[in-house]
Amino acid sequence: MAKEKKFVFKKVDDLPPMAMSLGTMRVNKTASWRNLRPIIDYEKCIDCMICWKFCPEPAIYLREPDERVAIDYDYCKGCLICVEECPVNAISTEEEGK
Ligand code: SF4
Ligand code: SF4
Repeated sequence: MAKEKKFVFKKVDDLPPMAMSLGTMRVNKTASWRNLRPIIDYEKCIDCMICWKFCPEPAIYLREPDERVAIDYDYCKGCLICVEECPVNAISTEEEGK
């Protein structure tokens, strides 16, 4: 059986339009769902914003003052879509509570 090829988006402009409804999700803090915590390695991150685009919660934002992506752990539910979609593997995971 042929191996499935994963399509990797290189920058946020490559993405098709996606549905977002962050206004309603803001009321649900989903941190308690999380078993694994995503951690961004800023040495590897190329600021492409792909993780922000794919995150289904309002959990990824631009931090001040350097305007780099950061994770709001009150809203991150640990789905790890960001880990899967990061084109340069800049997001690793850590067991929650460690
Ligand atoms: S693990 Fe899921 S909810 Fe948390 S930042 Fe990544 S994509 Fe968003
Ligand atoms: S963590 Fe990965 S997906 Fe997110 S901005 Fe950085 S390089 Fe892009």
